[in-house]
Amino acid sequence: MFNRIFRAADYWSTRNIPRMTKLAPVVPSAILRARARAAFKDLMIWTASRSDYYQKRFAEAHIDPAWVGKIEHLGDFYTWPEDVQDDPLQFLCRAPGLVCETSGTTGRPKRTYFSYEEIDWLARYEACALYYCGIRSGDRVLCTFDQGFWVTGPMTEATLRHLNVFGSVVGKVPADEAYRRIQDDRYTVLLADPTWLLTLTDVASSAGNIPKLKFIMCGGDRLPERTRTYAQEVWRCPVLQGYGTTETCGFIGGECLERNGLHLDEFNLIVEIVDRDSEGFGEIVVTTLSRRVMPLIRYRTRDVARLVEGLCRCGSTIQRISPLKARRDDMVVMGAGNIYPVLLEKLVEPVAGWPKVWQAAVLQREGRDVLEFRILKNGDLHLDELRKSIEEQIRIQQPGMWANLQCAMYCIDVREVMPTQSKQPRKVSWLVDER
Ligand SMILES: [Zn+2]
Repeated sequence: MFNRIFRAADYWSTRNIPRMTKLAPVVPSAILRARARAAFKDLMIWTASRSDYYQKRFAEAHIDPAWVGKIEHLGDFYTWPEDVQDDPLQFLCRAPGLVCETSGTTGRPKRTYFSYEEIDWLARYEACALYYCGIRSGDRVLCTFDQGFWVTGPMTEATLRHLNVFGSVVGKVPADEAYRRIQDDRYTVLLADPTWLLTLTDVASSAGNIPKLKFIMCGGDRLPERTRTYAQEVWRCPVLQGYGTTETCGFIGGECLERNGLHLDEFNLIVEIVDRDSEGFGEIVVTTLSRRVMPLIRYRTRDVARLVEGLCRCGSTIQRISPLKARRDDMVVMGAGNIYPVLLEKLVEPVAGWPKVWQAAVLQREGRDVLEFRILKNGDLHLDELRKSIEEQIRIQQPGMWANLQCAMYCIDVREVMPTQSKQPRKVSWLVDER
């Protein structure tokens, strides 16, 4: 009943992005919470009657969906990313319209299904977030987020449509080409991943005569403060960061122009921080309130952040989280893309003379990501040849990673270490992020 009233209010307010942007940031927290509670109760009933996965899991945990009034009543019930990865079809509550995917820790893609209506609905909120940061109908948006099976393509296109702005969703094109097009086509807003932005900023910095952008929104990876400062200096505009995952259909939160925490999408998600440490950092757990094809209840994202207390200087009542502190996964997100141990194993396997004992580390040199292979010292090895062989394997096996190498988004290095410097690495935990 309450959910129906809230949905009617949503329907009215979301028809018009400027009106929605005026209302959404000042909705009192108590109303947001009541709204989320009503949607959550509906979601429990919906999944319990339609999703094989939740039917089974609720029965195992002795959860009666009709009696769960608040999310806290679920105790230690969670949805695990491994379950989504193993068999996403068991989550389905309704026939999907499209599928998106990301690489997981074991290298098998994690797939999530949506309907076109869901993409369209959630894109209104993303549009609202961008409008809040200053996008207006005369703006021109260039989106260079990775394409492929990622959710960013369909989501960004739908978002730009709601904003009614001129926009191009082109994927990760070479930085010099993007720079030329920003000048020629007079783009005013750029959406980009942080490492790629670094390369583009180098190009802009050496080319001079830098076009004026309204702001740059980063996503897809953590935005290091050093990258932000550098890009803001060169472009003379705010560089903001957004955060989302494919499983949550993109956007979870994004910064406003204050750049002091990411405002969450409290209209479509319940975001909890669990297993908190003494500083309040814990894993981000997300419940998707408005999706009906493959909704997720208390999904463990494996990403770590904390809540930001108090009102934002922008005046919005919407809850904020800190930028991501880390990912709990073994996966390392870097200039090469999503890197995980199994992928590296496959790369070195065919390389003649590759030593049995090795380790890989992701580090930064002069602001750039380096994927460094460390091997035990052995006078017979030719490091430069090994590096070339690895690069050749990247070209053969990993087209996306190869394209990023060509764009100078990272580089490969092979280094010898003394036996005492390196513990005998175990098979799995030998990919370390040292950035
Ligand atoms: Zn704010």
